[in-house]
Amino acid sequence: MQIADKTVVSIHYTLTNADGETLDSSVGQDPLVYLHGSNNIIAGLEAALLGKSAGDSLQVSVEPGDGYGELRDELVQEVDRSAFQGVDDIDVGMQFMAQTPWGEQPVTVVKVEGDNITLDGNHPLAGQVLNFDVEVVEIREASAEELDHGHVHGAGGHHH
Ligand code: ZN
Repeated sequence: MQIADKTVVSIHYTLTNADGETLDSSVGQDPLVYLHGSNNIIAGLEAALLGKSAGDSLQVSVEPGDGYGELRDELVQEVDRSAFQGVDDIDVGMQFMAQTPWGEQPVTVVKVEGDNITLDGNHPLAGQVLNFDVEVVEIREASAEELDHGHVHGAGGHHH
């Protein structure tokens, strides 16, 4: 069986950045399970997995445009501390949900200068070339219900 649209795929992966630092890995944990062809994972990785079989290993380098997007300066904004009602301490690295022109998005505090708080709404992995080491663990047909919902049910997926 090969990976195609409407298959449920289990993979082990290790993600490293351009400096070779490991950013994320499923090794030693449960594999990542996703529904192929439903944008469950980033486009560049999904495209590289098409046609692969269980047991295959591959290395994939994903450009920002096929990953989490380019860094966008307009998503970095300075706001006044008064915008954070009910939050006493605001530190670099804290994340909040914020209303933006693109809907509700997570934003990260990147600078604190007195009452001026700088927020970055870019995805933490935006603008980065992402290197994936992937091993295909298992492939199965998706159920009609999974296709209907656009995600995987059961082990590694949604329970509802
Ligand atoms: Zn569902």
